Amino acid sequence: MNLESIETPYYLCDEKLLEKNLKILDDVQKRSGAKIIVALKGFAMFSTFPLVAQYLYGCTASGLYEARLAKEEFCKYNENAEVHTYSVAFRENEIEEIAKVSNHIVFNSPNQFNKFVLKVKEINPKIHISLRVNPEYSSAPSDIYNPCGVYSRLGTSLSNIDENMFQYLDGLNFHALCEENTDALEAVLSVFEEKFSKYFKNLKYINFGGGHHITKKGYDIDRLIWIIKEFIKKYDVNVYLEPGEAVGWETGYLVSTVLDVFENGMNIAILDTSAEAHMPDTLAMPYRADVRGAGVSGEKKYTYRLGGNTCLAGDIMGDYSFDKPLTVGKRIIFEDQIHYTFVKNTTFNGIKLPSLVLKKLDGSVELVKEFGYEDYRNRLS
Ligand SMILES: *Cc1c(COP(=O)(O)O)cnc(C)c1O
Repeated sequence: MNLESIETPYYLCDEKLLEKNLKILDDVQKRSGAKIIVALKGFAMFSTFPLVAQYLYGCTASGLYEARLAKEEFCKYNENAEVHTYSVAFRENEIEEIAKVSNHIVFNSPNQFNKFVLKVKEINPKIHISLRVNPEYSSAPSDIYNPCGVYSRLGTSLSNIDENMFQYLDGLNFHALCEENTDALEAVLSVFEEKFSKYFKNLKYINFGGGHHITKKGYDIDRLIWIIKEFIKKYDVNVYLEPGEAVGWETGYLVSTVLDVFENGMNIAILDTSAEAHMPDTLAMPYRADVRGAGVSGEKKYTYRLGGNTCLAGDIMGDYSFDKPLTVGKRIIFEDQIHYTFVKNTTFNGIKLPSLVLKKLDGSVELVKEFGYEDYRNRLS
């Protein structure tokens, strides 16, 4: 199958690039002694799990459906893989199934802990129990992605700790980073240790959460390894990391086609994709996606505002310049659109969801999934 024949829009995940990330993460595991699990929230393309499961120890899930996906689609490629399930609040009618498919369960609050801990242990005596704590310190780049801001609902802060919980706890989790380097991790760790290390004595592990931008160029991998090794030495516990973004980072792109070009004060090109529906974080974070072969506004001869094919006025990818004029039918490629894209995309405005394409290690291309009218309709009544 060749790429020209695949109808746009589609996301393409390139296994070679994914394997490059997995090898970096595996190097961290091997040299530091930490275990790394993938956060399905950020990367869940399970047609890649035969590859991912060769490197990572399991998955972190945010609730029943992600936990089931981990159990059904990841563990079959690695029978020792671990499913860690955290939820801000577990539901009574789901806890039994969650306990059955999870190796670790992470509670968000003492209330939730007290409500479910005995039941969960009864259903799955081997399950590990953890509590997410909130160090109340973070340098996350924007409020919407800061789990430790004021009035945060994510994790138990020191003042809410009930010491009785520790007779059951195997570990503690924190998650305070977002796309950050080791300086941010060290800052969080020092606050976390200051507040919570008095409780480490009988714990088996500490989970450092996600947000470690390990596979980004310039990330200080040697420093991360040093931090983890020191931590393990100091407290005699295992360490987990659970990145999502770092797994899917720069592993593929979104391909679209120009449907129309016109001028209204400036040149405008309409694409068969949508920032709002298919590249959600470009508007939520927000950030500007790179377009292959394009420059910033005015850098090259022909500048266009690239817009989505929905009625939302703000459905705009940004202004980009090109060496040649854009024409209808031209393909436009948005770089790095795998993590946090199709896990979050929508059919807003009835727009077609992009297909999912996998470029395999051997170079062959597989159209994994196409979406149609039924995918739109079935959610609406
Ligand atoms: C979002 C999240 C992650 C993954 O974060 P990334 O920024 O994708 O690495 C890990 N753990 C928890 C608890 C999360 O909420």
